[in-house]
Amino acid sequence: MTETKAGERHVFQAEVSRLLDIVAHSLYSDRRVFLRELVSNAADACDRLRYEALQKPELTADDSELRITLAPDKDGRRLTISDNGIGMSRDELVSHLGTIARSGTAAFVKGLTGDSAKDFALIGQFGVGFYASFMVADRVEVVSRRAGGEEAWRWTSDGRGEFAVEPASRDRRGTDVILHLKEDAAEFAQDDSLRAIVRDYADHIAVPVMLAGAKPETLNQASALWTRARSEITEQQYAEFYRHLSHRFDEPWATIHWRAEGRIEYTGLLFVPGEAPFDLYHPDRKHGVKLYVRRVFITDKAEELLPRWLRFVSGVVDSADLPLNVSREMLQNNPVVRLMRQGLVGKLLAELEKRAKDDGYAGFWSKFGPVVKEGIVQDAEHRDRLLALCRFASTGGDAPTSLADYVGRMKEGQEAIYYVTGEDPAAMRRLPQLEGYVKRGVEVLLLADAVDDFWLTHVREFQGKPLRSVTRGSDDLAKIKGVDEKPDEAPPAGEFDALIALLKLGLENDVKDVRLSQRLEDSAVCLVADERDLDIHLERLLRQHKQLDAGAKRILEINPRHPVIRALAAAAGKEGGGDKVTEAGRVLVDQARLAAGDPIPDPAAFARRLETVLLRGLG
Ligand code: ADP
Ligand code: MG
Repeated sequence: MTETKAGERHVFQAEVSRLLDIVAHSLYSDRRVFLRELVSNAADACDRLRYEALQKPELTADDSELRITLAPDKDGRRLTISDNGIGMSRDELVSHLGTIARSGTAAFVKGLTGDSAKDFALIGQFGVGFYASFMVADRVEVVSRRAGGEEAWRWTSDGRGEFAVEPASRDRRGTDVILHLKEDAAEFAQDDSLRAIVRDYADHIAVPVMLAGAKPETLNQASALWTRARSEITEQQYAEFYRHLSHRFDEPWATIHWRAEGRIEYTGLLFVPGEAPFDLYHPDRKHGVKLYVRRVFITDKAEELLPRWLRFVSGVVDSADLPLNVSREMLQNNPVVRLMRQGLVGKLLAELEKRAKDDGYAGFWSKFGPVVKEGIVQDAEHRDRLLALCRFASTGGDAPTSLADYVGRMKEGQEAIYYVTGEDPAAMRRLPQLEGYVKRGVEVLLLADAVDDFWLTHVREFQGKPLRSVTRGSDDLAKIKGVDEKPDEAPPAGEFDALIALLKLGLENDVKDVRLSQRLEDSAVCLVADERDLDIHLERLLRQHKQLDAGAKRILEINPRHPVIRALAAAAGKEGGGDKVTEAGRVLVDQARLAAGDPIPDPAAFARRLETVLLRGLG
């Protein structure tokens, strides 16, 4: 960097270097996207200036027509993108163009694997912002003067680890980004290609994008996209606008554009992304809806516009009722904002309900299902509609089912919607607790998202049918008319009285109760939670997260049709069978824990007991 000897040198944040490395090796198949990023930044800078000028009109007094200018220099192989927006101070140049500030973005870059094929797929949906300049330029200069400031500064870098900052001069506020184009990027200094790129990528930009020349020419429509009629906007324009807003590269899955007139007046344009944002579960993740008042950008931090579960949505709402000088504090508890929020949520729910019938819904659900389920808890007002939007894996088939469809398939005599929670649907299908249900053709929902245990504590029923866990409480299978019912196979219950009494006594420290089970078919035993205790998987989660020390004792259920249980019942009836029964009972309790995927408290003791039992069987 000899040419900037006079300037101070800075090292890029490690994540930026990483990103630049990827960018330089041009992961993008379409390098033209650099211009979208730079024009997008210039437009944001104009939006921010317009907002600051609401309080300080002097900022734009001398030059109030905000615009972006593209100045190609074919012979010098250079392209300059200028704006008369807010500009950057020296410190802003250093921090904005030397680090990644966006929450979660740095984490994303850290998470890149180094395997270029995988990283390519990931980063393809992700805008690299300003750093995209280095796809087409081997040196980038940024000259900027903050609105209201006197000084100008020049930032320079070749994108390899370092950048330099030195004093510069600029007559007025704003920013020039000067790209020294790579040899193979000369096309970007040609009028025709710039015209074409702006038409494809930046037509939605609300500020005029001009091509410099003897006769300056405006390349875009320069009207806010959301103010145009739906019929005049192409899908491509909507998609570009979405990418501009969300700083992402994917296609929107849903686009909702409407005008509300009535009690309040506003325009809404909302997008549901096609891919889950990588920071969807980052605590700092916020929705991406920008608030405008009569086409003036106000803030992208109006959290009160949407409930937290809709944090994957981006878009614009443009109010005709809020005052232009609306402040952050005014947005809280503001009746206009509250009505707009209701309108936004209503539109999004209606769109999801409409799309829930399409094939594409499964894709949406697989990406955003867990977040929609958060809404069941956060948004009590819409609980039933949200429950109806949910899809769950089920023992009834391979395709996820809705609760309404499940209810439609309920057996005669079946009163409840049955479910089990866990981590892995395939393992859950094999749980002993499910055997009796599966055998009778009674469907069990397999809920495998961490959030499931959470919302289930808030929901009692759906369409009047209670939701019931198959690992908690007593089963009510006897009432259900099953296809494979063989009630006469089980011996009379009295046969097990002695066994149950001995097990209760011998396993007093291990289990709460011992009882005969309907839900077991092939397995000898299982453990279930008492009706009044936490369900088994929820308790395991809480213990993993150290929110709970000791778990509650479980109820041991035994299968009266199982040969081991029948043999034990016979032994219990004989003189001196008590010790044998207790010993075997301990093995069975541990076995039930293992089958449920739970740890056993004393593995060494279990192994010893198993040996004894084996020996006895072989002897
Ligand atoms: P993003 O736009 O997603 O924030 P970028 O990498 O595109 O990320 O830009 C980083 C930051 O640099 C912007 O947030 C903004 O603060 C600043 N910036 C970039 N270009 C300009 C510009 N033309 N005028 C003023 N600030 C700019
Ligand atoms: Mg940007």
